[in-house]
Amino acid sequence: MSVNSGGPPPLPVRVRCFPGEGLISYARRLSAANHLTVEDVESALRSQGYVFPYRRDSEERQRIWRNLGLLHAFAFTETEPDVTIPISYRRLCAKCSAGREADGLLSATAGDVCLRHHRWLGDGVQVDVSRVPEFLTAERAFRRVLMRRGVSLGSVVLMNCRSIGQCLPEHVVQPRLRRLRLREAGTVMLGYPETVALAAMLTDDAFLNQVLSPARPESRRAFLDESIKAAVHHMELVESWRIRNVLWRSLKMDYEHLTSARLRGVAPDPSIAVTTPFWTSRPRWEED
Ligand SMILES: [Zn+2]
Repeated sequence: MSVNSGGPPPLPVRVRCFPGEGLISYARRLSAANHLTVEDVESALRSQGYVFPYRRDSEERQRIWRNLGLLHAFAFTETEPDVTIPISYRRLCAKCSAGREADGLLSATAGDVCLRHHRWLGDGVQVDVSRVPEFLTAERAFRRVLMRRGVSLGSVVLMNCRSIGQCLPEHVVQPRLRRLRLREAGTVMLGYPETVALAAMLTDDAFLNQVLSPARPESRRAFLDESIKAAVHHMELVESWRIRNVLWRSLKMDYEHLTSARLRGVAPDPSIAVTTPFWTSRPRWEED
């Protein structure tokens, strides 16, 4: 057992890190065991001055979560860095598990909604989403489009889209809350339909062809902004810079890595340029 000095103290309730388990999966389970979400923990630590790098699986984030879970220094390093960090253990739909609160292996065929019982399975309370048709449409799109492309709930591309929930206008948020019969809900949940739409956009070959092919940054950025608007049906977003900046930073990182790989004539590393695997028509300069 070794904890880096200078890191945050461990959370009160500890959970075991499964062999080979990734950071995102563990952080979710540890937070949940402490009746928190990963967002709660990270934003509390940010307010105490801890710096979380942009990448979800960065070494610094791993170090902080190792401290929080009192894990050994090699935890999270046994797994190969990958585009997708599968979340294998999660709370099962209470109706599917006969009313018992259970975490289990969910087959890699579902997003955040149980389509059988129309229940929300993601962060927060398991509520009935049958009166919010956009949640059901999004879940079908998640399974039909995203899962086929290899995107899971733990994928970095999906995580990057989650901040859209903070940009929803009140005239969208309030009716959703009413139909969910909730007084309040987390932005991750409220933004699920738009999160799925943006992840579908980000993993679309034609979109990537436009934003990752050599071109001036202004035109690539303008294309991204237009595509975000189209993906959310030209909804008037609040503080739209939040989501635009997150996605632009991610695509800029991918673009720079691809440019450098192209110059060196080597294959890009999908753990750095996370959208690479979805850009199926990408020119294969490394094979020339
Ligand atoms: Zn169910």
